[in-house]
Amino acid sequence: MPQILDGNRVRDDIKSELKPRIEALAGRNATPGLAVVLVGNNPASEIYVRNKIKACHDLDIYSESVTPPDTISTEQLLAIVQDLNARADIDGILVQLPLPRQVDTKRILLAVSPAKDVDGFHPCNIGNLMVALPGPRACTPAGILELLKRYQIPIAGKRAVVVGRSDIVGKPMALLLLHENATVTICHSKTADLPAVCREADILVAAMGRAAMINGEYIRQGATVIDVGTNRLDKREDVARIFRNSAEKLASYDKKGSVLVGDVHPLDVIEKASAYTPVPGGVGPLTIAMLMVNTVASAERRASTC
Ligand code: NAP
Repeated sequence: MPQILDGNRVRDDIKSELKPRIEALAGRNATPGLAVVLVGNNPASEIYVRNKIKACHDLDIYSESVTPPDTISTEQLLAIVQDLNARADIDGILVQLPLPRQVDTKRILLAVSPAKDVDGFHPCNIGNLMVALPGPRACTPAGILELLKRYQIPIAGKRAVVVGRSDIVGKPMALLLLHENATVTICHSKTADLPAVCREADILVAAMGRAAMINGEYIRQGATVIDVGTNRLDKREDVARIFRNSAEKLASYDKKGSVLVGDVHPLDVIEKASAYTPVPGGVGPLTIAMLMVNTVASAERRASTC
């Protein structure tokens, strides 16, 4: 049986390690503070924001959510961001995406002070990542790197294939693996013979948003497989096909009306991989943990310059 890379366990370890750092900051009157800007009433975004605020609460990080209506203009949202940039009690600013259509998302993300950009999305911080300077890294890929390191999966000299080239997952993931001396290939929807490229991977990262697409044909025997995808199956026949009529999964579908699956085939990966992240319980828990790490690091930088 392959090793299961347990994101919940690593998240708990990361949070435990943060606690003394947060206490030390509080002792210096520099409690970390995170502001989350949530525009409108997108139910999925509301759940993400609630989970982020809860993580802050668990760790005694000050948090604040700013919730303007979805009719807000770019100028009005810029004013909110600039106000948060100027506040001494706020170390991290997170603007929950997606924003409403009338708002210029790029201008908003550019307006967040790079020092408070705990998502690691600002071009300054992407530049820092590119040239391996310190700075906040995008949370999901940073969490995956933590997971690989804590499970002592060798990276240097290994072949890594990242499927997906988004600015928030695929590209920063590839750069982080490159800085760890992996030989990295980035794939996307136009990659020719994707299964053959993926089969070269010692470490395969799937981040496409395509339910169970990476099946046994894509996975080299003994590879480490990281599944970033979170896809909700809302048709019973899809659950039956992908999970090969698993009574447990079908019962779960009948109860909840949907079942979560990653971008990697959940049964094939067990036959082929030497280690893999399950969905749920793999990559997902690490994203918020790394947001907490970025917020605490930002507060430490502020405290050291005061
Ligand atoms: P995205 O912005 O939609 O990017 C998807 C990438 O996958 C694109 O580069 C696209 O290629 C590529 N792609 C799509 N279909 C493909 C195919 N058939 N073959 C090869 N490449 C294909 O997505 P994202 O934001 O990076 O997220 C990816 C997945 O990770 C989603 O399921 C998302 O929900 C999940 N996610 C999870 C977490 C977490 O905390 N667990 C965090 C972030 C994202 P092109 O560039 O050519 O279009």
